[in-house]
Amino acid sequence: MERKNCWKVYSEKRIEKMEQYAKTYMEFLNQSKTERECVDTTINLLEKEGYVDLAKLITENKKIHAGDKIYAAGMSKSLIIFRIGEEPMEQGMNLIASHIDSPRLDVKPNPLYEKDGVAYLDTHYYGGIKKYQWVTLPLAIHGVVVKKDGTIVEVNLGEENDDPVVFISDLLPHIAQEQMEKKAADLFSGEALDVVIGNKPLTSEEGEKEAVKAQVKKILKAYYEIEEEDFLSAELEIVPAGVAREAGLDRSMIMAYGQDDKVCGYAAIHALLHAKDFKRTCVVLLADKEEIGSVGATGMSSKFFENMIAEVMNLKGEYTELNFRRAMKNANLLSADVSSVYDPMFADSFEMKNAAMLGGGLVFNKVTGSRGKSGANDANAEYLGTLRGILDAKEVVYQFAEYGRIDLGGSGTVSHILAKYGMNVVDCGTAVMNMHAPYEVTSKADVYETMRAYKAFFAL
Ligand code: MN
Ligand code: MN
Repeated sequence: MERKNCWKVYSEKRIEKMEQYAKTYMEFLNQSKTERECVDTTINLLEKEGYVDLAKLITENKKIHAGDKIYAAGMSKSLIIFRIGEEPMEQGMNLIASHIDSPRLDVKPNPLYEKDGVAYLDTHYYGGIKKYQWVTLPLAIHGVVVKKDGTIVEVNLGEENDDPVVFISDLLPHIAQEQMEKKAADLFSGEALDVVIGNKPLTSEEGEKEAVKAQVKKILKAYYEIEEEDFLSAELEIVPAGVAREAGLDRSMIMAYGQDDKVCGYAAIHALLHAKDFKRTCVVLLADKEEIGSVGATGMSSKFFENMIAEVMNLKGEYTELNFRRAMKNANLLSADVSSVYDPMFADSFEMKNAAMLGGGLVFNKVTGSRGKSGANDANAEYLGTLRGILDAKEVVYQFAEYGRIDLGGSGTVSHILAKYGMNVVDCGTAVMNMHAPYEVTSKADVYETMRAYKAFFAL
């Protein structure tokens, strides 16, 4: 079987459209480093296109009709977006589910301390990271601090050219002989990933104890009007500083933080905004907490998404418990998440015939589980046959792959959670090199094919 390569089949015109799409995607990434920012950015995009908040429709008891465009946010960190089709929802929906949280370092509730003249923020890493990758890089602080009176202070520090950045230190090689003998997994412990935030002592007449920390507290008060105690009710995320960049002399790739899984999330949003000829109601789910097991009120396991579907059916005059169950059972789902990609530098870790290639188009992962398919969704052949048909009809480039060599490991996505309703489910998304590293790499062509595939899917 011949492997397809997007670059070999792309026309000039398609490349032009791909470049345009890559540009809007990179801008989206720059404004969406955290799940909260991603929800904000997306709602701005949606409202410009005439989407309305479901909460408002519920309060006003407004009827919902075919053609309506609706969104609902869950605690500012997850999002469900609807384009209402002509068919009754009990006949099924076309769903695309992705996640908008990414691996990072979260600031602990009691984070601020000084050690031997250096002030730190203590962190607890979020998601599966290779800890050694996160040291000695410029890092930014994004998030919110909520004060006791409910005031929300938004923090976004380290992204502007004249903003200061923060960082995690590493030992110089000259005296690292003992450190270098450790296994890579033990090079940095979770507790060692604390972020340096200051070194200048506050000089006061009393000769203050912990004068560097005191200086930091003074700055926090002056700039953000927050006290040390306010960290107790904060969600601050330490992420790599800087914008998405084109990569390669040929500019064929994108290097950026958080492409897992905003590359699929943005593709789903864009595809929904531009969907044509769809009869079913089309839905995009953007979940939080996937990287830590899809738990929590904003994760895919939460009832939030199905509750919002029930609300829409209700305002459409179609809601009964049975109709709702049918709508879920008859749904088609693309679990839109990134895939691993073959890396020539680590050829041994892959089984070539079943490895995704950079530039090979959208990746289907029939199986994402590890060691004997454990935890895998293992999509139905019938569903995969149908999807091949619609993608071929639209000349979408795609490939079928597994994560890597059997027994090396695997991955989990949100697919198993929605599969519980008995709907058609398959994992498919963009191939990512350096997945979960501070800067992840994708092929512009794969990024574009992912969006084209999702757009074709909505018309199914
Ligand atoms: Mn993912
Ligand atoms: Mn991930």
